[in-house]
Amino acid sequence: MTSPQPRPNVADIPPYVAGKPPTVRPGMVSYKLSSNENPYPPLPGVVEAVQQAVGQMNRYPDMGSSALYAKLAETFDVPADHLSVATGSVGLIYQLVQAFCDPGDEVVFAWRSFEAYPIAVTAAGATSVRVPVLPDGRHDLDAMAAAVTDRTKVVLVCTPNNPTGPAVTQAELDAFLAKVPSHVLVVVDEAYVEFVRSTDPVDGVATYRRHDNVVLTRTFSKAYGLAGFRVGYAVAPAPIAAALRAVSLPFGVSTVAQVAAIASLERRDELLERVEALVAERTRVVDGLRERGWDVPEAQGNFVWFELGERTADFALAADELGIVVRPFAGEGARVSIGEPEANDRLLQLAETFPR
Ligand SMILES: *Cc1c(COP(=O)(O)O)cnc(C)c1O
Repeated sequence: MTSPQPRPNVADIPPYVAGKPPTVRPGMVSYKLSSNENPYPPLPGVVEAVQQAVGQMNRYPDMGSSALYAKLAETFDVPADHLSVATGSVGLIYQLVQAFCDPGDEVVFAWRSFEAYPIAVTAAGATSVRVPVLPDGRHDLDAMAAAVTDRTKVVLVCTPNNPTGPAVTQAELDAFLAKVPSHVLVVVDEAYVEFVRSTDPVDGVATYRRHDNVVLTRTFSKAYGLAGFRVGYAVAPAPIAAALRAVSLPFGVSTVAQVAAIASLERRDELLERVEALVAERTRVVDGLRERGWDVPEAQGNFVWFELGERTADFALAADELGIVVRPFAGEGARVSIGEPEANDRLLQLAETFPR
């Protein structure tokens, strides 16, 4: 008797390790710093808009997400047909690989980087080509350009890089794009773009306008605080955006997600003030860590990376005892999100007592 068998690559898909919820400790508030979520509750107005929309749950969402496309086009000054919305930017990354890779085609990305990349690539039957990040956690863009072969269809550039933290500069990205053949799609994953405070930040929109092979992926999950609603968008030249829309899950982005995203874009100034406060906390944390002798990489997202090697599990345990849950990567290091000031204080307390 034979049973139905999935394609062989399915067994090779690495698991996605989600950030753990905080451990409940009697008499102590615990904080989740393991998923790079926004610690602020939704803005007033966003919740009300969503509450209104909840009454339509018996109806399918607007499949064309037309109001959201219009709002994104206006906000970022791009044509609506250069956009594709999806169930989070993870959804977009799956769609990109699905639309551009045949089995055996290669996708180049930095490593360690976002853990969804090898999952999306393997699920499509494509091949991951991992290029180690530099010792300071930055992308090695020269090595990534050199890793492009005849089989390469996509290169993923994660900036700021999750989990190590540094951002690519515009000069670095320009030099990289000059080396990559024009038939190779370059995806700039800008999940944390709102948090970047570099002296030479990437201007993603200006860059995609200059290159027919560049696509930006962005999300409402991080700076906008809508992680629970699963909505992200790509900005790309019209043919690429059309390919993304063609492979998208019909009705994937729910009505409440569309409404929440539009309401958030309408309150973008208020949201960006919150981002500013998180950036100030990030500066306080990074400065505090360095004063305590921790050599952490440049942090341009809403998280800090600790390279700990074999001590990673001990660090995660010590953090847990202080009521903060971090995201350990076994044998490599731990990523800690910037959270509430009290949570950040506990991280600094941990940095004081845990051996460097
Ligand atoms: C969080 C994150 C995403 C976005 O995830 P969503 O699916 O939009 O929630 C994409 N890329 C990176 C690097 C991330 O860290």
